[in-house]
Amino acid sequence: MAVNENLRTPIVCVMGHVDHGKTSLLDNIRGSAVVSGEAGAITQHIGATEVPIESIVDKCGDPGLLNKFIVPGLLFIDTPGHHAFTTLRSRGGALADLAVVIVDINEGFKPQTIESLHILKQHKTPFIVVANKIDKIHGWNPQKGAPFLASYNKQSEHVRASLDTKFYEVIGELYNHGFSSDRYDRVADFQHNIGVIPISAMTGEGIPDLLMVLLGLAQRFLESNLHYDAEGPGVGTVLEVKEERGLGTTIDLILYDGTLRKGDTIVVGSLGEPIQTKVRAVLKPRVLSEINVEDKFKQVSKVTAAIGIKISAPNLDGALSGGSVRVATPETLDTVVEEVRSEVEDVQIDTDQSGITIKADTIGSLEALVNELRKEEIPIRKADVGDISNRDIVEVSAIEEPLHSVIVGFNVNILPDAKEKLQSTDVKLFMNDVIYRLIDDYKDWIKEQRAMSE
Ligand code: GDP
Repeated sequence: MAVNENLRTPIVCVMGHVDHGKTSLLDNIRGSAVVSGEAGAITQHIGATEVPIESIVDKCGDPGLLNKFIVPGLLFIDTPGHHAFTTLRSRGGALADLAVVIVDINEGFKPQTIESLHILKQHKTPFIVVANKIDKIHGWNPQKGAPFLASYNKQSEHVRASLDTKFYEVIGELYNHGFSSDRYDRVADFQHNIGVIPISAMTGEGIPDLLMVLLGLAQRFLESNLHYDAEGPGVGTVLEVKEERGLGTTIDLILYDGTLRKGDTIVVGSLGEPIQTKVRAVLKPRVLSEINVEDKFKQVSKVTAAIGIKISAPNLDGALSGGSVRVATPETLDTVVEEVRSEVEDVQIDTDQSGITIKADTIGSLEALVNELRKEEIPIRKADVGDISNRDIVEVSAIEEPLHSVIVGFNVNILPDAKEKLQSTDVKLFMNDVIYRLIDDYKDWIKEQRAMSE
């Protein structure tokens, strides 16, 4: 077996509670890609880091493994968190094909751990759990970059027992949340069991195992999703809209299908009319050895999925994070514009005659919030992207039903004039960056209101 050229790189997202080590894990993975010299010392984050198959095999120290793998490597989304997972969508659902849920082995489950698991279950995304910070276990003797078992076997019996105790607490918590799991090397059937890998994002212990298990999962469960048409029109998702000196407004994106070329006509999702423009430059970050201040990026004439890139083009102001970028030809332009428009409208549209008002920071997070509220049968009058404005407050304050005089804001701010206006109204405002907390707070409030009116 060898790498199959019809398969694109699987896209991986790292999720978990704040401070449990998402950024450190991504840094470690990025760093190891750099050390192996494969991906170069990438200094700019533009959305995603590719770890080629050769460098994964290299880390595992067994060249024979190369024959086992048919995917070209792994592409990690650089922005961590479940927010990135839900915001970044592709035609089929979430942009990420696979996920890693990270939990601090010394702290155990926290609200965002649970929220991550819920989201992955809902999307049916294969994932693994890593129990991080094993180096903090008292007496741990760190083995930099070693596979987990090699390191485990070097620890004293006492230290191994401490790790086992904490590790089984994680397994127990997963069980309490409806997931059967075991240590990754003991899992025979990854379809029904979640593999859990003890790691240290700090020392790199267990990270070779993590990369190998992700490759295995991708090959076992995703092969049909990963077939792509390299000759087809490029399709991607916007990660970030950024001003870049000398380039104007640019977008960072992950291309997940087809090819994108300099000069292509593209259609980009926006809250208003979809943007139609022509790609002026396709840019990859320069490696450290080549960097000069004038020119942080390297222009290429084309790129093929899956890859993280930056593009520069006229009229990108108003491009929507989490929205689509699609290459169109003169023949397909009208259809592509319609499709991109309806992707935005499907989420934004008013669906109930009466209900609460919701705001979120991106189209993907709005969709995630709508889905969760629908599950709870909470009616939604209006769902929109953006900070909470004076106009929102005025509109909602005119609603007569007190239980609907509510704004739920996910990952947004309230603008200063809206804050002032709020004081003089009866509008009830809920804001949070954890969906479940928002819903729980809203439900508690409803209960209180009902109890008061009885
Ligand atoms: P995030 O909020 O999930 O992105 O977490 P960070 O990666 O920012 O990590 C939070 C803190 O934990 C930082 O101070 C890290 O240095 C530390 N940290 C992360 N991973 C490890 C680890 O494996 N071992 C130790 N000792 N500290 C870690």
